[in-house]
Amino acid sequence: MPLVTTKEMFEKSMKEHFAIGAFNINNMEFIQAITEAADEAKSPVILQVSSSAIKYAQIKYLKKMVEAAVESTNIPIALHLDHGPDFETCKMCIDNGFTSVMIDGSKYDFEENVALTKQVVDYAHSKGVVVEAELGKLAGVEDDVNVKDDDARYTDPDQAKEFVERTGCDSLAIAIGTSHGAYKFKGEAKLRFDILKRVKEKLPNTPIVLHGASSVIPALVDMCNNNGGNIPGAKGCPNEMLKKAGEEGVSKINVDTDLRLAMTAQIRRVFNEDPSIFDPRKYLGPARDEIKATVKDKIENVFCSANKA
Ligand SMILES: [Zn+2]
Repeated sequence: MPLVTTKEMFEKSMKEHFAIGAFNINNMEFIQAITEAADEAKSPVILQVSSSAIKYAQIKYLKKMVEAAVESTNIPIALHLDHGPDFETCKMCIDNGFTSVMIDGSKYDFEENVALTKQVVDYAHSKGVVVEAELGKLAGVEDDVNVKDDDARYTDPDQAKEFVERTGCDSLAIAIGTSHGAYKFKGEAKLRFDILKRVKEKLPNTPIVLHGASSVIPALVDMCNNNGGNIPGAKGCPNEMLKKAGEEGVSKINVDTDLRLAMTAQIRRVFNEDPSIFDPRKYLGPARDEIKATVKDKIENVFCSANKA
């Protein structure tokens, strides 16, 4: 099966009330772990690349490795640009064979966001590529995106409807209380499901996307901290909430932090337990296994996308 857009997988997710995981990739181990887990679970999957991942690994390397994963598996795989900062970056990804791009105009005011998103949509659609846009603003830090708590704001459902109608975007990322990074909540975790419900009432046919949705898995944070790490007080979005989001209309759930923690935890454990190791396969192998187990657990037990390929 060649690379696909997210169109069909999102239609199925809206009809059958499950979510599709969108996992960030940076290197070969991530790509193999994510696609093997999805293949074994017979789940559609989205591989996403941020602009800093492109800077790190180069777009041609990422694309070729994703092609190898597509050849090695038998599930729908979409290749998506995460948080495209401008038209040029989106265009570069479209021209390099991505099947989906996000244009993140949430840093601009409403009219500027509409104009920029529309520009990307027009180009993407002429090439058969789909576009995710964002309205509202998430707090937190993720690669080049850094928004202070005070600047974060929830998505306005009426504005969301106007935004989708005017831009023609294919899916919409909304802000309902998640945030980027490993420190998502100061107090109790809380998501505004009332806003999600109102957005879905206004936009019943638009797939909704949740960013900043890692659960910051406590066992992985502990494994890091017990092996020389220093990530105190990290807190994510509980799995029950993410499961509910998938059931109540979210079609795409982004996961980056949890996979970073999975890799780091295993590398730290191996180094701590055997300081004599210097063969990279001896620590990147367990790291890849941990990423795979993490992705599989999300697909089977949180997003409920297993057997939906
Ligand atoms: Zn994000």
